[in-house]
Amino acid sequence: MSFIDRHLGPREVETSHMLETLGYSSLSDLVDAVVPSSIRLEDELDLPEALTETEALAKLESYAQQNTVMAQMIGAGYYDCITPAVLRRNILENPGWYTSYTPYQPEISQGRLEALLNFQNVVMELTGLPVANASLLDEATAVAEAAVMMLRANRKVKNGFFAIDSRCLPQTLSVVRGRAEALGIDFKVTDFSDGLPEGDLYGVILAYPAHDGEVRDIKDLIDAAHERNALVTVTADLLALTLLKSPGEMGADVVVGNTQRFGLPLFFGGPHAAYMAVQSGMQRNLPGRLVGVSKDATGKPGYRLALQTREQHIRREKATSNICTAQALLAIVAGAYAVYHGPEGLREIANTLHTNAARVADALVDAGLKLVHENFFDTVCFEAKGRAKELVAAAAKAGINIRGIGEDRISISVGESHGEKTLAALVEALGGKLGEKTEREIPSELLRTDEYMQHPVFHLHRSETAMMRYLRQLSDKDLALDRTMIPLGSCTMKLNAASEMEPISWPEFATIHPLAPEEQTKGWRLLIDELSQWLVAITGYDAISLQPNSGASGEYAGLRAIRAYHESNGDTERDIVLIPMSAHGTNAASAALAGLSVAGVATAKDGAVDVDDLKAKIEKYGNRIAGIMITYPSTHGVFEDKVREVCTLVHEAGGQVYVDGANLNAQMGLAQPGKFGGDVSHLNLHKTFAIPHGGGGPGVGPVAVGKHLEKFLPGDGYTADPEGRLAGAPLPISQAMFGSAGVLPISWMYIAMSGARGLRSASEYAILNANYIARKLGEKYPVLYTGPDGLVAHECILDLRKLTDESGVTAEDVCKRLMDYGFHAPTLAFPVPGTLMVEPTESENLAELDRFIEAMSTIYDEIKHVASGAVSVEDSVLRNAPHTADVVSADTWERAYSRSEAAYPVSSLRANKYFPSVGRIDGAGGDRNFVCECPPMEAFDIEVK
Ligand SMILES: *Cc1c(COP(=O)(O)O)cnc(C)c1O
Repeated sequence: MSFIDRHLGPREVETSHMLETLGYSSLSDLVDAVVPSSIRLEDELDLPEALTETEALAKLESYAQQNTVMAQMIGAGYYDCITPAVLRRNILENPGWYTSYTPYQPEISQGRLEALLNFQNVVMELTGLPVANASLLDEATAVAEAAVMMLRANRKVKNGFFAIDSRCLPQTLSVVRGRAEALGIDFKVTDFSDGLPEGDLYGVILAYPAHDGEVRDIKDLIDAAHERNALVTVTADLLALTLLKSPGEMGADVVVGNTQRFGLPLFFGGPHAAYMAVQSGMQRNLPGRLVGVSKDATGKPGYRLALQTREQHIRREKATSNICTAQALLAIVAGAYAVYHGPEGLREIANTLHTNAARVADALVDAGLKLVHENFFDTVCFEAKGRAKELVAAAAKAGINIRGIGEDRISISVGESHGEKTLAALVEALGGKLGEKTEREIPSELLRTDEYMQHPVFHLHRSETAMMRYLRQLSDKDLALDRTMIPLGSCTMKLNAASEMEPISWPEFATIHPLAPEEQTKGWRLLIDELSQWLVAITGYDAISLQPNSGASGEYAGLRAIRAYHESNGDTERDIVLIPMSAHGTNAASAALAGLSVAGVATAKDGAVDVDDLKAKIEKYGNRIAGIMITYPSTHGVFEDKVREVCTLVHEAGGQVYVDGANLNAQMGLAQPGKFGGDVSHLNLHKTFAIPHGGGGPGVGPVAVGKHLEKFLPGDGYTADPEGRLAGAPLPISQAMFGSAGVLPISWMYIAMSGARGLRSASEYAILNANYIARKLGEKYPVLYTGPDGLVAHECILDLRKLTDESGVTAEDVCKRLMDYGFHAPTLAFPVPGTLMVEPTESENLAELDRFIEAMSTIYDEIKHVASGAVSVEDSVLRNAPHTADVVSADTWERAYSRSEAAYPVSSLRANKYFPSVGRIDGAGGDRNFVCECPPMEAFDIEVK
């Protein structure tokens, strides 16, 4: 059987049955009716023939062979570490973890919420600050977020500039420069050896350790900054903080950094989880997601995402950042690494690294090299006048990559997997001899003396058996794609095939450092070039960058390109983007981040862009229009016939057209945004192209552009000129040139195995499945927007507002009740409040669609029961959902419905039943009473020894 036959849910008979239900004789007839002919693609996509799973793996293997596995001691933001096999197999390679969605529905997400809370707690403990978020995209963007956040949070210095350490990572400096310039924020790249710069300083960013490895006492600088009413951000290496005095203890307001070295492979640059911790009082300014502790309906503690009203979905252009997808899966691994090793284990790893780095230092000093600084953690830097290239080459000959810093310096970062043999080989290659011991120590005034990570969770799971069971116990609490369809509109939760996932663990991909020399990374470059070409062929654009590591960062990159394009034409006054009211919240947030103002465009009755209103807006804003951001098919789930006209109107006004490509799953092989009027789009490889959602990341949001925008695609952060823009060289938007490269093999495999016809089938079946659900449920739950013949695209919006009026039962009640039926809820209240948006994807078969339809139909009867007055909404099975095993099996039962109605409303549940581990969680209460520490184990009736 071909791959695509495995990827698609419906079998032939099922397809016929569904088509019959819809009144079409073939799938192509249905698709012809759905997709407007005005945008329809005539030719087959220009892609190679589909490969079988075996063939595709063999081909990718041949690419992998062209990468060279080395001992990686380059450092510069990426450090060698060991991924414990128990974490790799049970998290990274386990669909129970990687196929789950962002935990917006906390009752079915307690496992990953606890895992993320562990991550937050590790960060809080090691940084010495009381609040941390549940991951950011990478260290460089985390610093950029901090730079902007400090301005927002500083109540005393309202304008002014920030000063950033010239010894932050080079990538960090260039990403931060790009962000600050887009927003018109002034900054100075500063060498703090002479103290702080003069002037209206609102914030200071200090590197600890510096990129060249030096560890300095930064307490005086922090105090001096505070005296000037500036806030202070410290970029810190979490592993170093197991030994060094914490930035929190020294008074830092914000601490950011990366957690890659907590068990994550180098992945050629990403994905890895960055972190941010802040002083209390700043949590409302914190970008990204935040897990907090609240209570469920029975008073039991339960986790949920806290302060969600800060999110871009709700706040749009007023959002604190545009982060939606972050790095949840990677944060979960990093947190688990800390749980597995505990504080003593981490300290031991850190001590070993320092000792080994010190032995290397001793040996090379003996060999005649000069140390640049005496105080370091794991990275030693040497003066080597004019010899850097030669030394880097000598080490490479011995199978080891070290870092050349310019012509005159080298640095060496010792990693967790580097044993005696590797260290000896390194030293020998550089002309020295490794000694056994060292006298070098980190000066005691730099060391921390406080205890950290005292919570039992960091002490209970030392044996592999215990760890394996802890991870299983957590994932058992969650609903992911390995148990049920996740019909989340706009999120495209399709199959993440095992054969797509396998290559990401191959050492020839996973262990490659992003700054490894090109001749060692040929395989990676082949894969990246080929995937880029394929995505260009699919979208109809001319060029693409794989750098953005989420859809929203793709939006930001695309809008930056639009701005740069206008500026290059001398159109500096174009600063307004038109965005339809129904757009995803990240659109407006990204526009704000790119320094553009947002003007809304109304929605017509049929859900399309209101062309008359668009004309009025064009009239009103004229030459100030930078462009429009539309989503196609729209977030209302229909293909708009007028999309070409919309694009033409904007072009005639001198604007550019941004087509949000998150909904590309409806149009692969059927239509191309690059051909029907788009100038730029981002795609979501973690939706359309089979990268798993990971519980909220990783993501890849490539930005595809027309020829005229190509030269404005993001550049390489490491080599970009952070101090002053090289003539026209574009700045990066992410830390690594290829963003989250580590997960690109997944999309490569998906396209290689699908081919042109397979991708088109995926879109066709996505359309079929969505229409089947819309047809079967439409009588009970009206479908809000439809195109010709009552058809929808690949998703449909079920309108519950009338039922809510009749009964008081809300769309949220329905989401919670679906959990009792073993389902993850559809998208709630987006893009229209009071509705549910359902996207089944092509991967679900008829039985699963029917199971969902049965659940929704039974729930409809339950709602009608309330509407009839037979039971009050407060006492109804809906409002009291979800029902835990605890509640259902309690000795007393005083409810208006029976136990079996609560837990087994349809008979198939007798054979396959999931119980949420908590009842309905009180989100608002948790926000009023904000707690993000791990609760005591006693709260969960866990015995603490
Ligand atoms: C998912 C989505 C985005 C944002 O993507 P992230 O990867 O979560 O940042 C933007 N627009 C639409 C329409 C989406 O569905």
